[in-house]
Amino acid sequence: MPKLLPILHEPHPILRRRSDALVLSSWDKKELQALAADMVLTMKKAPGVGLAAPQIGKSIRLIVVERTPEPLVLINPKIVGHSLRKQTLEEGCLSVPGKYGLIKRWREVKVRAQTLDGQSFEIKAQGFLAQIFQHEIDHLHGTLYIDKATKLLQ
Ligand SMILES: [Zn+2]
Repeated sequence: MPKLLPILHEPHPILRRRSDALVLSSWDKKELQALAADMVLTMKKAPGVGLAAPQIGKSIRLIVVERTPEPLVLINPKIVGHSLRKQTLEEGCLSVPGKYGLIKRWREVKVRAQTLDGQSFEIKAQGFLAQIFQHEIDHLHGTLYIDKATKLLQ
């Protein structure tokens, strides 16, 4: 059964670290699947729409993103393309409780990543999903939305 993981809060130093690439061959597949399932449960219960591994204390390039019908698990996700246009959006973060802010994000992004089985894939997203990808991938670089927000509100 998946279990809830504690979510780290700013200013925890792990949140500021650049995450390492996740080398699938050095992981036990069951262990990695269990970690991803724990992250999905933790995201849903929070409740949140995305969660990056540094937020649960692991400095590895792994994110989960809420999406219907199934949440997405992305290993080593990278933005490989984006629209020229940006949109200003409201944003919050499970690691920065009690705050939200306004931030400019690309309207559309193309993300390349691997599945838990090691298959490469690309996914295009726009609007809210594009925002979540950018937010979670920022976490892998040690960046929080509060670093980029044009306005912070409580
Ligand atoms: Zn966050």
